[in-house]
Amino acid sequence: MSEYILAVEGLTVSFDGFRAVDDLNFYVEKDELRCVIGPNGAGKTTLLDMICGKTKPTGGTIKFKTFDLTGMIEYQITRIGVGRKFQNPSVYEDLTVFENLEISYPKKRGLMGSLFFRRDDDLLSKIDEVAEQIFLHEVLRHKAGKLSHGQKQWLEIGMLLMQDPELLLLDEPVAGMSAKEREQTAYLLNNISKGRSIVVIEHDMAFVRMIAHKVTVLHQGKLLAEGSMDQVQADERVKDVYLGH
Ligand code: ADP
Ligand code: MG
Repeated sequence: MSEYILAVEGLTVSFDGFRAVDDLNFYVEKDELRCVIGPNGAGKTTLLDMICGKTKPTGGTIKFKTFDLTGMIEYQITRIGVGRKFQNPSVYEDLTVFENLEISYPKKRGLMGSLFFRRDDDLLSKIDEVAEQIFLHEVLRHKAGKLSHGQKQWLEIGMLLMQDPELLLLDEPVAGMSAKEREQTAYLLNNISKGRSIVVIEHDMAFVRMIAHKVTVLHQGKLLAEGSMDQVQADERVKDVYLGH
């Protein structure tokens, strides 16, 4: 068990009797990049909502490292190293790219005085590193509102990276992106998955193939299939579910 960074067991949530996620077991290893696919309404977003503390499960457990997340609230879950990106990019449009990254840097508690200088240095080099990773170094001084939709998606990933999460949860990060931007995002995710675990919800199979170590298929709140991209795509049950839509 201890090699799993995330262990979800028997997870269930019911909305007025409708089980959006139903007795789900889901394990993610350290340094793994997992993709979760499944038709609309399968419960993918709800799964992330429960991991990050936005929705309370009706039953089951969610363990991140040694923490039981079901007993914690959103900001605590963020603070112990779980970063979540929602479906629509939410960046501060009136702030520059630099400022968006700056405000995402976690405040360090502790001594005043000399440590301020160190913090400034740390902050600047972190912004530098993250801006480079998300392909926005050239536009650090631009207002975020002026960025393309794809660049906003990258900026939001960058804002999460400022906090160095050990587990990153991304909901449809390439929605609305061009083919070129998708390829860049695949490169970005492969790059930032070193030393952390990432769960990506995505519909675009070509994209999933570029990044997934392993694929989980959800259907009606339940686990339908799990394995390599090739295994999952060859699975008759998976074909049925996708052809049925
Ligand atoms: P996916 O992300 O896989 O498309 P969702 O997790 O968003 O699916 O939704 C799964 C199902 O749960 C859908 O049928 C959706 O309508 C329902 N659902 C999600 N959140 C709520 C809620 N807060 N109240 C009632 N039903 C919900
Ligand atoms: Mg969704």
